[in-house]
Amino acid sequence: MGMDYFGTHIGKLIEELSRLPGIGPKTAQRLAFYIINLPESATTNLATSIIEAKRNTKYCEKCCAITDAKYCPICQNEKRDQGTIMVVEESRDMAAYERTKQYRGLYHVLQGAISPMLGIGPKDLKMRELLLRLEAEDVKEIILATNSSVEGEATAVYLSKLIKPLGIKVSRIANGVPVGGDLEYVDEITLSRALEGRIILS
Ligand code: ZN
Repeated sequence: MGMDYFGTHIGKLIEELSRLPGIGPKTAQRLAFYIINLPESATTNLATSIIEAKRNTKYCEKCCAITDAKYCPICQNEKRDQGTIMVVEESRDMAAYERTKQYRGLYHVLQGAISPMLGIGPKDLKMRELLLRLEAEDVKEIILATNSSVEGEATAVYLSKLIKPLGIKVSRIANGVPVGGDLEYVDEITLSRALEGRIILS
């Protein structure tokens, strides 16, 4: 890596940090020096919080979102509209819609999208879990909020066909969300509009 001029330990820290998404070698070096210069207690807190978060990560037994309990806080909240489920690809997409403060229903996190190129099929996603919910819960509407990428669209089409025979209303969020764009980087106003302008499929 060419980081050896700082010594093995610091070089190792820079190397590990540079593996993080969006962190280039220069930023990794800057972060490494920042961490090294922190008081020892702060460094320990940082390291411990990483380990604890990783160790306590679970998936909500209802919506499959990342959480640290049996059920995530949204599924535990009885004030949420129990009759609406928004289907998203990743837990971070759920967080993006939560930031809009517009949506009061529940979610279902597929943990990905159908991608023949990557060999990801419906069975690799949390679709069976969704169907079990539709059987067990009194759901009035499913909002398909997968990304507007090819994979996201394919997933939405697949799900709408799967859900149609159940007689549950299915809608798709409106265009406006950039194609292939990570929902987490889309601003709240765009997401709110996509949600409000959703199209009824069946
Ligand atoms: Zn949940």
